[in-house]
Amino acid sequence: MVRGVDGYYNVLKVIEELKDETNITIAYTVNPWNSREDYLHVLEITKKYNLNLETVIYDDVKLFNTEFVGDRLLYDVSDLMDNGLNRKFILLYKKWLEGLRIPCLSIRVNTYVMPNGDVRLCHGTDVVLGNLYERSFDEIWRSRETRKILKLYTNCNKCYGHCHRMFDLGVLEKTKFLPKFILKRLWGDFEYELLFESTGRRK
Ligand code: SF4
Repeated sequence: MVRGVDGYYNVLKVIEELKDETNITIAYTVNPWNSREDYLHVLEITKKYNLNLETVIYDDVKLFNTEFVGDRLLYDVSDLMDNGLNRKFILLYKKWLEGLRIPCLSIRVNTYVMPNGDVRLCHGTDVVLGNLYERSFDEIWRSRETRKILKLYTNCNKCYGHCHRMFDLGVLEKTKFLPKFILKRLWGDFEYELLFESTGRRK
């Protein structure tokens, strides 16, 4: 099953046909309906065809109408992954469930434009920054209200969505050598020591 649809053989066919034409990345979502065995199977396929594998975790996403039922702590695959940012994303998930706060920085560069013109803050909230039928994107994006919202939601920490939080971890990795007081000034009072430690900072 691929996203609830029996498209497995179609995906294999596309891989067969395109593998020599372009780089292919497979995105695997760890979710309550698949298992570590499924991951191992997909891993084998990516090795066989020399594909990239991106590992994502299922999350509540308002934009996609998904919500968690039951235990959010899913099976671990970090031991099967190469060392890198994606592995850190998987490793930090458990800590995030336990209360680790990660500044939400991706909202400063990503947004979602909906078919009705709404410009939304992110995929995990209902916050609308403005509507393109009323104001231009630049007006909405550069407005004082938007700046206030972005600052406020840097503290949100409500989701662990891959398309947002991987970006956040990437920025943290790149800035981990900055003095803490600068980081605090930039993004607020987070447990940077813990964040850097958890993401493999050398002491
Ligand atoms: S953590 Fe960031 S991306 Fe996630 S819901 Fe909050 S503001 Fe949106």
